[in-house]
Amino acid sequence: MTKAHANHTTLPESPAEWDAQQSSRLYGVRDWGAEYFDITDEGNAVVSLKFGDKTIQVPLIDIVQGMKDRGLDMPAVLRIENLLDIRITQINEAFHRAIEQAGYQNHYRGVFPIKVNQQCHVIEEIADYGRRYHHGLEAGSKAELIIAISQLRDHDSLIICNGYKDEEFIELGLYARQMGIKCFFVLETATELSTILERSKALGIDPLIGMRIRLASTVEGHWNGDSGDRSIFGLSTHALLEVVEQLKQADMLHCLQLLHSHLGSQIPNIRNIRSGVMEACRFYSGLIEEGAPMGYIDLGGGLAVDYEGTRSNSTHSMNYGLDEYCYNIVETLQECLDPLEIPHPVIVSESGRALVAYSSMLLFNVLEVRDHKPGHIPASAPEDSHDMIINLYSVRDHITVDNLQECYNDSLYYRDEIRELFHHGQASLRDRALAENLALAIWEKISELLPQARRISAELESLPELLSDIYYGNFSLFQSLPDIWAIDQLFPIMPIHRLDEAPTRSAVLADMTCDCDGKIDAFSYDDGYHKTLPLHPLKSGEEYYLSVFLVGAYQETLGDLHNLFGDTNVVSVHINEDGSFDFIREFHGDSIADVLSYVEYDPKVMQEQFRRLAESAVREGRISVPMRQQMLRAFNDSLNGYTFFER
Ligand SMILES: *Cc1c(COP(=O)(O)O)cnc(C)c1O
Repeated sequence: MTKAHANHTTLPESPAEWDAQQSSRLYGVRDWGAEYFDITDEGNAVVSLKFGDKTIQVPLIDIVQGMKDRGLDMPAVLRIENLLDIRITQINEAFHRAIEQAGYQNHYRGVFPIKVNQQCHVIEEIADYGRRYHHGLEAGSKAELIIAISQLRDHDSLIICNGYKDEEFIELGLYARQMGIKCFFVLETATELSTILERSKALGIDPLIGMRIRLASTVEGHWNGDSGDRSIFGLSTHALLEVVEQLKQADMLHCLQLLHSHLGSQIPNIRNIRSGVMEACRFYSGLIEEGAPMGYIDLGGGLAVDYEGTRSNSTHSMNYGLDEYCYNIVETLQECLDPLEIPHPVIVSESGRALVAYSSMLLFNVLEVRDHKPGHIPASAPEDSHDMIINLYSVRDHITVDNLQECYNDSLYYRDEIRELFHHGQASLRDRALAENLALAIWEKISELLPQARRISAELESLPELLSDIYYGNFSLFQSLPDIWAIDQLFPIMPIHRLDEAPTRSAVLADMTCDCDGKIDAFSYDDGYHKTLPLHPLKSGEEYYLSVFLVGAYQETLGDLHNLFGDTNVVSVHINEDGSFDFIREFHGDSIADVLSYVEYDPKVMQEQFRRLAESAVREGRISVPMRQQMLRAFNDSLNGYTFFER
């Protein structure tokens, strides 16, 4: 369910009467913002936090100003620490409420999958804020296990190890186990078990073992490949029984305590979740029947984020809320296990996206706008004009709502005729420019009349998009928003100021890379999908800032060095009860020297090469020695500078 009905921008009809409320409806901030974001009457986008019954609103533009004062340029990732705290609290409290209401006889233990955002300060904050709920970590590799062991201080939190595990990985986990950490090995394949058994015997440590099952239940959404028979993850039913057999023979069945299933990320439909849990319960009871003690059921990730704010079962949305998610899981477990008189297991979930998406946003300034307004057109056709040009004038002057298609066809034809003549040297540069300007003017007029027309061809329908502005943003899509490029992810995007003014331009966004994929031309707002976004015209001498929201999950480390744009600046801000905010951490993004060394250049050698070049220019009398010095300084400053556009 991707952009099936992409509509065009609905620009304000009466810009003069615009106010911030209208921006708030247009961009849908109260729908996707989940009450963490809002727009003030002054037209500023704010982070909105509740402290008791008091609501504190902090304008993002104030934080941007604070960053500027500290020498942190755009683009930047802004992290609001409070939002990590709030999300951990909300997820844990929602499970606790559901458990209490249903009379479920066990507790909830969340684990955060490190792969969703491995940044040290994010994990530190999660470990810190998660402590009061015994929120643990999920590791999918040795590196992530090392992070988990070193970050978690609380022995009631779990570490869940997924992924392929070699001997070293297993030994690390066993040592953690011996130190009192509840570290589970989740078996992805049957072959892992022999290493686990062998190493634990050698070290004399009993492991905690889980099994990842392959559910037949499938899900909607982008990640449906994680479930179903062809999923590359998890044990098939017969492999599962082989593992049980192997454990029995080794007299280790008592170590099998956890069942793991993960249906995929961003599951938009609650029905899929319910049926997945139900199937997992069958496996759980089957393993108890086989004599395993069990005690933990891990339902993986999948809790979605409503990037669109439509509360629907579309790919980038979700047709359920957090409470409903928790009730569904708790109820389904009870419904399945109670008739079999199986004790309620500890409920484990591995929500990544839902925990971190809200806490980060990408902020950037707009460098330039390319519009498609026609250039100067003389009031009437210049003397001795080509017939084609005279015809274009006539088309322009006779457009009505009833002949749009005809005028469009004619404009295209006459313009192309002039281009053809130009090609053969029979029309001048000026003829060509005038023909192109006239065609643009005609299309502008057609596009204005389109809303009144009854039937519109696909060609005409895409006209407003062709005429929309291109806003060049100071960011790299590949570095900061890789999922837009890779999987057509939609993120909410809007300006962070001037929201009390009407956004009168219709735009697509282009990034700094010279790659035609480096653009954003799919948006969700105003109750629909659109190919362009309404934005404000730039004011000269004033920066225009946009924010891409909800980017805390997956974007940071999946990003790459396309065109050698490196990591952006990152700041982590904590908002206080009195509305002030503190810059808790600042990270300067990659310098050019940094990214060059990632691709194996040695900046020192490059400096030397440049020095030699300059020195021989001195010798040849091309430049003076002071000039040489100036050039060397410029070269070094560039090496040490930010990879993005600096004002
Ligand atoms: C990726 C992943 C998750 C996280 O999924 P979200 O949808 O982000 O919550 C959880 N568990 C496993 C095994 C994963 O691979």
